[in-house]
Amino acid sequence: MAWIELTGVRTHNLRGVDVRIPHGTITAFTGVSGSGKSSLVMDTLHAEAQLRYVEGFDPYVRKFLTPRDRPRVDRVRGLTATLAVDQRNANRNPHSTLGTLTGVDAYLGLVFARLAPLADGGTWTGPLHPAQFDPHTRDGICHTCVGARELVAALPELVVPHPELPVLAGGSDWFAGPLSNEAAYLPSLAAQHGADLTLPWRALPEAFRRAALHGTGGATVPVTLTGTNRKRTGEYTYRADTALTGALAEIEAAYAAAGTDQAKRLYRPFLDRRACPDCAGTGLGPIARTVTRAPTGSSTSGRARARRAAGSSTPARPRGSRTATGRPRRSCGGCAEPGYI
Ligand SMILES: [Zn+2]
Repeated sequence: MAWIELTGVRTHNLRGVDVRIPHGTITAFTGVSGSGKSSLVMDTLHAEAQLRYVEGFDPYVRKFLTPRDRPRVDRVRGLTATLAVDQRNANRNPHSTLGTLTGVDAYLGLVFARLAPLADGGTWTGPLHPAQFDPHTRDGICHTCVGARELVAALPELVVPHPELPVLAGGSDWFAGPLSNEAAYLPSLAAQHGADLTLPWRALPEAFRRAALHGTGGATVPVTLTGTNRKRTGEYTYRADTALTGALAEIEAAYAAAGTDQAKRLYRPFLDRRACPDCAGTGLGPIARTVTRAPTGSSTSGRARARRAAGSSTPARPRGSRTATGRPRRSCGGCAEPGYI
């Protein structure tokens, strides 16, 4: 097994620590506050990896980077490139990946756009660009699942799993629970349809059950809500004419709007979920799913191949004749793409 080996670590309060970390496994560092976890992982291991990464740049580029102190360690072996995800980063959503949290996904899109030629059969003849490999963009998203990676549908049998019981007394956790806004209007809807909510769900008029599940189709329901006001000084009565979207649409909309996996979990008992059949759960559009990486040793970039397949004999042109530093771009003999990897 390959290892990352740190010998003689003296960063901050560490006193000559030796540690071996296996590659290809999940390793956790635990300890009381102040025991040196961050000093070892972030200020030594990650800092050393960053320094080695920067040392791979051209000296001209390094002039523009803020120099960092070398961590105090005698020897580091087996170290590969590292990515650090700050635990305080609260900008997470169900579409977050290690790539989006670190920003690496944008670079991966660039790499794929440069290295990926046409798919077998040549269904794409335009230039490839990074957005086509990003499921968060219009060009890169799967239009079947809209990037959600799954197809979800609220089902009547999941919303009312016990139709032999009254809907508010054991028949449905959705209508009887706290998640639904429209559930408060159920007695008003029942009154409009002459439905007795003390009867089993399956015994209620079909028109009422359809409206409760599928909505009123824009038709309004005269609703009356009563309760205690916020200061608990008296009762209030609220009357309005309201159109209902129905439980199925309400659940699906609430699930889509839930920002965290924890919030989405509340709605899953009422939803049928399956991996998107078109993108196989990747959320990616057809171009990213069908192009393949250029064969090793290929001397042609994806763009050049795309142009060739499109019947153009014009070579790929650089985006500009000079780099941002004013230096002339040099065509790379390996990738035939001026100034780009
Ligand atoms: Zn999809």
